Amino acid sequence: MLKGKAALVTGSTSGIGLGIAEALAGAGANIVLNGLGDAGEIERLRRDLAARHGVEVVYQGADMSRPEAIAEMMRAAAERFGALDVVVNNAGIQHVAPIEEFPVAKWDAILAINLSAAFHTMRLALPGMKRKNWGRVVNIASAHALVASPFKAAYVAAKHGIAGLTKTVALEAAEAGITVNAICPGYVWTPLVEKQIPDTARSRGISEEQVKRDVLLAAQPTKKFVTVEEVAALTLFLCGDAAASLTGAILPLDGGWTAH
Ligand code: NAD
Repeated sequence: MLKGKAALVTGSTSGIGLGIAEALAGAGANIVLNGLGDAGEIERLRRDLAARHGVEVVYQGADMSRPEAIAEMMRAAAERFGALDVVVNNAGIQHVAPIEEFPVAKWDAILAINLSAAFHTMRLALPGMKRKNWGRVVNIASAHALVASPFKAAYVAAKHGIAGLTKTVALEAAEAGITVNAICPGYVWTPLVEKQIPDTARSRGISEEQVKRDVLLAAQPTKKFVTVEEVAALTLFLCGDAAASLTGAILPLDGGWTAH
């Protein structure tokens, strides 16, 4: 379905991004992997992905909090593959604390990585997509793009922001064969969720087990974590021709959380 196309997935060395890279490579796309982590482990991932799917996979380790690093990654990707066909803005971080204790540096980092990075990849990828009259942008937002939870001021602000950004760019690109959508997963069991459990327990004064049962899964009527594979499958659908008229949508994938 995506044979010969080139896809950038930011934050694809772990969790949801890695699952999306896997799905897009499985559909034949060449992949630009991005994200932090151990160099040896990332090289193993890169080779494995390329070998299993018979596609080209390159790694660009741009720090998504730095606009100039993003610009350099986009330039290198275009040099290798020509203009990108698919951009998945997925890199993200979380920090859990009451607003009066929220570290200013964390606020800045979350806004930069979870929101501004998508502005930069889109502003740099759109001209190439417009030349081809085809493009797909998928922003991995969150149920927190639609509803709030306490102690997540920066994350909720950034995710609500990306919903607005998604709709704006969708309108600007609509006549050029480019769709721009956001997927809003509920809780997916990945390192990002696992790491916030101790802080959530501290902020709420409850045990880690109670966080899982009474905070995370309590939000989701299905009482199940969303899976990485489910997010990857929806991303793949959005990249296909069947989704050509689906644009500017903020799509919940949250086990019914935001239906409350
Ligand atoms: P994760 O921690 O497993 O993966 C995050 C990825 O982003 C990693 O590859 C990491 O290296 C990368 N990253 C972090 N900071 C970076 C930086 N400065 N520069 C480049 N890469 C950076 O987390 P995940 O759960 O897979 O989250 C992926 C996305 O999904 C995030 O945007 C997150 O907000 C969103 N999301 C996650 C959940 C969930 O429950 N896990 C729910 C809704 C939305």
